[in-house]
Amino acid sequence: MTDYDTNIKNLKVLFSENEIKNKLKELAEKIEKSFPQNEDIYVICVLKGSVMFCADLVKHFSNPVQMEFIRISSYGNETKSSNNLQAIDLTLPNLEDKNVLIVEDIIDTGLTARFLTDLFKIKHHPKKVVFTALLNKKCARQAEIEPDFYGFEVDDKFVVGYGLDYKGYYRNLPYIGYFPIQS
Ligand code: 5GP
Repeated sequence: MTDYDTNIKNLKVLFSENEIKNKLKELAEKIEKSFPQNEDIYVICVLKGSVMFCADLVKHFSNPVQMEFIRISSYGNETKSSNNLQAIDLTLPNLEDKNVLIVEDIIDTGLTARFLTDLFKIKHHPKKVVFTALLNKKCARQAEIEPDFYGFEVDDKFVVGYGLDYKGYYRNLPYIGYFPIQS
């Protein structure tokens, strides 16, 4: 049996596919209400972790949507966040005076959220920037920032699935889970 097989057998479900589906509908409604009706929303999907969340979230919007993708690189180990961040693959249209929605998988230390929010405000001069994350790990916060909207709060667990990885795996799981600590 491979490590992958062993790990996936032990994985505990934290949020089921159905719970995520219901939460997204509710979240999308709140997010959309925060933007002016019928105005374009430029959705910034932060790769790779928010790929599933972002793809499912935008399906609920009725405002006109444009989707953009960025990738952030950090220099840390696999389960800890790093404050050495850099935006890569950042080819974006002109966002001056536009409505921007940044979509992240999880806000943990908040360093990525801080970095991205500042980057968009300072560099792109949008009309409005809204930050949403599917998960909020409040207990791990280092930067003074809260998402404008989030789906679920999680405690200090390393979670995988629904876009979130461990060593590149588990992103394709339709649910969010964690590996219990074994004694
Ligand atoms: P930050 O610490 O800057 O708020 O989060 C940076 C990134 O670390 C997140 O976008 C996410 O990709 C990753 N991350 C933080 N916590 C977890 C976690 O519990 N599981 C996984 N798979 N990634 C996480």
